[in-house]
Amino acid sequence: MQAISGNIGRHAAPQLKGQIPEALPTISGGPLGVRGKLAVLADAAKYDASCSSSGTSSRNSMGGKGIGSSEGSGICHAYAPDGRCISLLKILLTNYCKYDCLYCVNRVSSNVQRARFTVDEVVQLTLDFYKRNYIEGLFLSSGIMRDPDYTMEQVVEVARVLREVHDFRGYIHLKTIPEASPDLLARAGLYADRLSINIELPTQSGLTDLAPEKNRDGIKQTMARVKTRLDEAKDEKKRFRHAPKFAPAGQSTQMIVGADDARDRDVLGTSSNLYGSYGLKRVYYSAFSPIPDASSRLPLIRPPLMREHRLYQADWLLRFYGFGVDEITSAAPSGNLDLAIDPKLAWALANRHMFPVDVNKAQRSLLLRVPGLGTTAVKRILTGRRHRSLRLEDLARMSNGVKKAMPFICAHDWQPGGLTDSENLRDRFAPPPEQLVLF
Ligand code: SF4
Repeated sequence: MQAISGNIGRHAAPQLKGQIPEALPTISGGPLGVRGKLAVLADAAKYDASCSSSGTSSRNSMGGKGIGSSEGSGICHAYAPDGRCISLLKILLTNYCKYDCLYCVNRVSSNVQRARFTVDEVVQLTLDFYKRNYIEGLFLSSGIMRDPDYTMEQVVEVARVLREVHDFRGYIHLKTIPEASPDLLARAGLYADRLSINIELPTQSGLTDLAPEKNRDGIKQTMARVKTRLDEAKDEKKRFRHAPKFAPAGQSTQMIVGADDARDRDVLGTSSNLYGSYGLKRVYYSAFSPIPDASSRLPLIRPPLMREHRLYQADWLLRFYGFGVDEITSAAPSGNLDLAIDPKLAWALANRHMFPVDVNKAQRSLLLRVPGLGTTAVKRILTGRRHRSLRLEDLARMSNGVKKAMPFICAHDWQPGGLTDSENLRDRFAPPPEQLVLF
């Protein structure tokens, strides 16, 4: 259900194949207890990127000390629909799973410690953490237990009890199982703020190879169902003020990058299709990490983290800057994005005939293509130039990226001259070459 890639600490627990651990597994001979389960199931959930916030450094709350410390127990940060950064309790209901997705540390053939929360335990943990102000919501996922419907019922029940029994008003993000019945999906949306369904890998061939129990068409069909329900709920809300909400924060997904041989072109093509066809709010990219006892079909090393970062930048270009996948990847003949420079700069360098653009005259769509100018800067430029002809110093007040933009723009007091077409322009931005690490 959840796409997890990465290592977690290995224990000497026996493999649990084909049975659900009703009796709790143990750590050092004794029952796990809620705290022990929390340690296992929060750790198992940490590889899921779909509620993470990139680009921030959270404070370390390990060690149980300091104001706001949660003793390191599975608290992550995410952005709410209104843009606020919120803390979520991020856990699995269980890390037992009957599926065998090769890239996942919780696959049935993985020799890791297993644990399972009851519905009441998750509810109580959420309420306790919420009342102590550790969290503002819950991110709940699960491995597949007996069957998809059984698992999904348990996940939905947590959300139902929180909302209906305890009148919980915090944020709830539920990971949903594509194979679960449409009825369960509809119920999940009544209680959750956001639903997510992992597409897992960029291509069908990757899925067939590494996660044979998963079905790409089934995943897309479930996304389509959620979209239809989201649209219906919006219409109902317009007509009836008290119509029930359905996942008001929409749906998202996660893709693992670097576990198979899919190129960035494939990854972005899939994202573009998902945004266009199913109205997804976000596609999250998770760089594959090698796992213990991994299949020989998996790579031995993880892809550079910069690849994940470049994909997020390209994703931003798709959603907010009017770029198409072909344009973004046109500067990458190998099909993979340039790791040394960001994709917008790579595109501009490959399309210099379109520059320089005059910041005092160019249309918004063209200004958005200038490296160094973000959507906010472009908005400020469009407003500012109504009053006067903009100079470089005006632009410097509007954007932090003017230095990067200079070869690609003209302003009242600036012409780049031959800079735009200079042969070594890329070298001005690319980091200097470094000697590789000695293994
Ligand atoms: S093995 Fe289970 S938990 Fe892991 S990705 Fe597959 S379905 Fe999800």
